[in-house]
Amino acid sequence: MNNFETVIGLEVHAQLNTATKMFCPCPQADYKAGANSAICPVCTGQPGTLPAANVKAVELGVKTGLALNCRVNEISIFARKNYFYPDLPKSYQVSQFDRPLCEAGSVEIDLKPSGSKTIRVARAHLEEDAGKSLHALGSRALDYTLVDFNRCGVPLIEIVSEPDISSADEAHAYLTELKRILQWAGVSQCDMEKGELRCDVNISLKAAAVKELGQKVEIKNLNSFKAVKDAINSEIARQTAMIERGETVAQDTRLWNEKEQKTVPMRSKEMAHDYRYFPEPDLVPLRIAAARLETAKNELGELPRARKTRFMKDFGLNNYDAGVLTSDRCLSAYFEACMKEAPPSAAEGEAKAVANLITGEFFARANELKVNPEDYLSKTISPVSLVKLAALTSAGKLSASAAKTVFAGSWGTGKTPEALMGELGLAQVSDSVQIEAWAREAIAANPDAAKDFKNGNEKALGPIVGMVMKKSGGKANPRLANEAIKKILAA
Ligand SMILES: [Zn+2]
Repeated sequence: MNNFETVIGLEVHAQLNTATKMFCPCPQADYKAGANSAICPVCTGQPGTLPAANVKAVELGVKTGLALNCRVNEISIFARKNYFYPDLPKSYQVSQFDRPLCEAGSVEIDLKPSGSKTIRVARAHLEEDAGKSLHALGSRALDYTLVDFNRCGVPLIEIVSEPDISSADEAHAYLTELKRILQWAGVSQCDMEKGELRCDVNISLKAAAVKELGQKVEIKNLNSFKAVKDAINSEIARQTAMIERGETVAQDTRLWNEKEQKTVPMRSKEMAHDYRYFPEPDLVPLRIAAARLETAKNELGELPRARKTRFMKDFGLNNYDAGVLTSDRCLSAYFEACMKEAPPSAAEGEAKAVANLITGEFFARANELKVNPEDYLSKTISPVSLVKLAALTSAGKLSASAAKTVFAGSWGTGKTPEALMGELGLAQVSDSVQIEAWAREAIAANPDAAKDFKNGNEKALGPIVGMVMKKSGGKANPRLANEAIKKILAA
C-alpha cells in the first residue's frame, strides 16, 4: 500500500576551498592538527575583536551561485544566528538570512534508467562553521566534554534546495551532481570523510489525494551519501506506518542512528530554536561588483553538464563514457587534449578507442600509482602517445597484450609507442608470406580442425588461428592470419 507521495528538500553544507577562515586570518587546520592549534581572538569570540570577510570565500560563494544557475545578488547581508552551544564561543554564528548571496537556481539530475529532472535551488549563502565537542567518559564516573575550536569560523556555503526531490534515489542523484559541480568549480573538495560536505534532510509524506503536505521532519548531520539514502528510506517507512495507523506525524528534528539503521528524536517543535536573526553590525553589506561577477564567470568556464553534452555531440561518445570523462575537470581536460591529437578525420570509433583506453588501462594505473587528476597531463602518458596507441590497437597493428606492454613502457617515460614497439620487438607482423607460412604449419598441426572447418564448422578455425599466434610469438596480425587460413583451406 503506497498511496503516499514523498516530498524532500536538502540543505547541504560545503566547506569552502580557502587557505584561511571566513572572518580571521587563522589557517583552515588539517583534521590531524592539534586541538585549538588554529585559533585567534576573532574566531574564539573575544570581546573587542572585529571580523573581516575573506575575499576568496566570497569569490567561491559567487562561483557556487553561477555554477548552480542562481541569481547572484549585488547586495547581500551577513546576519547573526543566535544560539548557545559550548562549541560556539560567540554564542552566535555569522550566517546570511533574509538577504543571501545567491537565490533561485537549479540543478539538473540524471534519473535511472533514463531521463532527467530539475531540482530547484532556493538559495546558497555564506556562513561560518562551529567548533567540535568531544564527549568522553571520565574517571570516577564523571563524564566530561572537551572543545576544539579549530573548526570555528571555517567558511561554508549552505545550499538549500526546494522540496523537489521525491525519493532516496533522487536525493542521491542530486548530491552526486552537486558534488561534481562544486569540485569542478574548485569551490570545495567535498571530502565527506573529513566532514567537508554535510547534509540535512527535510522530509514529509502526503496522501496522494490530499493537497497539503504533512508535518516536516528534519534529519540532521548526515555525512555520507549512503547515510542520506538509508535515513530517507527508513523515515519514509516510519512515517508511512504512522499514517496508516491513523497517527499524526509531529514536526520533529531527528538524528540518524547508523548502527540501528533508524532515525531517533533530537528535539521536538516545542524545543525548536528561535535564532533571533539580526544583521551583523560588525560587517558592512556585501556588494558584488559587476566586474567581479564577470571574472568569476570567465574562471568558471564550461560546466560539467555542458561539457558532457558537447563530448556526446562532437565525439559521438555514449552517455556513460561522456559521464565518466566529465566526472572530473582535469580528467575531461586530459581527454580533450587527447582528442586534439587525433586526426581531424578521425571516425567516431577513434574517440571510443581513446575513451576505452582512458577508462580502462589508464584509470587502473593512475589509481594504482595514486596520480591526482591535476597531474594527468604531466605524470602519466602524453596525449599524443595515448592516441597513437589507441590507433595502433584499433588498426590491428598491436595485439591487446602487446598494447598493455607498450602502455606500461610509455607511462611516465615520454617514450613513444613506435619507439617502444621497435625496442621490445612488439610490432605486429603483417607480412603475408610469413603469415601464410605459419598458417600452413598450423593447419598441418591441426588436421581434425581443418577437416571440421571444411565441413562447415566455422568455430574450428579458432585452434588454427591460436596456433598461428603461438608460432608467431603473439605477433601475427590475427585478421590476416584468419584470411590466410581460410584461403589455404578453400584452395
Ligand atoms: Zn581565528
